[in-house]
Amino acid sequence: MDCIFCKIAAREIPASEVYRDEHVVAFNDTNPQAPVHVLVIPTRHLEHLQATSAEDAEILGRVLATIPAVAEKVGLADEGYRVVNNCRESAGQTVFHLHFHLLGGRTFSWPPG
Ligand code: 5GP
Ligand code: ZN
Repeated sequence: MDCIFCKIAAREIPASEVYRDEHVVAFNDTNPQAPVHVLVIPTRHLEHLQATSAEDAEILGRVLATIPAVAEKVGLADEGYRVVNNCRESAGQTVFHLHFHLLGGRTFSWPPG
């Protein structure tokens, strides 16, 4: 499968990693939208959130449960951060391997654009 995030998960292409375990990898976004912009992904290929179901609860839980540890590591634990998932085209998804954006280091507005 020609998936760039699968290749990052498999270490076939390089990324600036901030966290890795058997199930989850976090790495810096190459086109950061904030001073800190990390992508948190399952190592297993899941196309997007809408392609998951209750059967994926364990991996989804692992990905979300990793975010506080990643936030701590990149210095966002106290000031806070935004977590974004773009699900499918209208939301702006461009890489079709499930990922959560961890954004911080600046103030964010609401509603999102
Ligand atoms: P999406 O638009 O799908 O929610 O987010 C995809 C993100 O992946 C974008 O923020 C984009 O900058 C990032 N991205 C795309 N290709 C690469 C890559 O090869 N390496 C890294 N580190 N980030 C990438
Ligand atoms: Zn993939």
